[in-house]
Amino acid sequence: MGKGLVDAFGRTISYLRVSVTDRCDLRCFYCMPEAFNDYEVPDNWLTFAETERVVGAFAALGVNRIRLTGGEPLVRHGLPALAGRLAAIPGIDDLSLSTNANRLARDAQALRQAGVRRLNVSLDSLQPRRFQLITKGKLEKVMAGLMAAKEAGFAPIKINMVVMQGINDDEVLDMVEFCLTHGFTLRFIETMPMGHTGRSARDAHYISLQTIKARLAERYNLLPSIMDGGAAQYFTIGDTGLRIGFITPVSQHFCATCNRVRLGVDGTLYLCLGHKHSVALRPLLRAGISDEGLQSTIRKALWLKPREHAFNDRNTQVLRFMSMTGG
Ligand code: SAM
Ligand code: SF4
Repeated sequence: MGKGLVDAFGRTISYLRVSVTDRCDLRCFYCMPEAFNDYEVPDNWLTFAETERVVGAFAALGVNRIRLTGGEPLVRHGLPALAGRLAAIPGIDDLSLSTNANRLARDAQALRQAGVRRLNVSLDSLQPRRFQLITKGKLEKVMAGLMAAKEAGFAPIKINMVVMQGINDDEVLDMVEFCLTHGFTLRFIETMPMGHTGRSARDAHYISLQTIKARLAERYNLLPSIMDGGAAQYFTIGDTGLRIGFITPVSQHFCATCNRVRLGVDGTLYLCLGHKHSVALRPLLRAGISDEGLQSTIRKALWLKPREHAFNDRNTQVLRFMSMTGG
């Protein structure tokens, strides 16, 4: 067993986000260009067995939390089966999923039974017309998915809302009420300059979450709170029990406590969302690398992890879309 994965800045990596596809059945304008179809070819997707091996290597090195993401993970066929295989790996004690919930009504029960405990669901608007403008999808399908998730017993269910000036910032209070009604946790996210879609969304619609927090504080009593050591800063609203998180990668980055790395669908290990540093694991897997060799490669890769992202540096171009790196 390894002694834990530590990077050059002393940060311990305990969390791996696994992108199981770069495809998506929605088109959130800040994430993917509408006509985008430059996807990875299936031959280059890690197979379930390869994904299991990589996750096993990370688990042997002390990683205990896995999040399945994408693209939209539910468009990958057989996702509940993969989830079951990953949940069974010794050392993995937290398996979660990020989804747009568009197909969740179909898969919620199977995923819960496979061992996925926690769910993050993207939801940027509660208005059908506006939801359609932002995502090109149908709100009713997502709502059906969310209710199926509630029924299946995922806990917590976190709603992720990318807050954009002039697009949905007037829905912040409605979203609070919606989450209070259903017992969901709510997290607000700032737009990030990922790919040219994220860059232009940020330029046109960026709003600092400090502004949103100030607006909420006028209406509610926000009490500082803690939740599962992630990237968000949490508050509870009075004595309601509703937790609200603020994810502020741009206005207040949290790189100093970053505990995560990302695996792309093609087996590329990305060390930071905001930089190009990466290591291609697929060729090594397909060339028959041993478990020890794989673990040693991962350990060495960690030394490439940069100190912090460069989202505020306009000269730095991050060409990948969020859907490619695994959001
Ligand atoms: N399809 C799934 C979903 O939407 O939850 C999982 C992948 S998605 C890339 C993960 C998260 O990234 C979503 O909450 C989405 O809103 C967020 N995201 C995508 N592009 C973004 C951007 N430019 N800025 C901020 N958040 C972004
Ligand atoms: Fe798809 Fe998620 Fe990107 Fe929206 S944010 S386009 S749902 S991957």
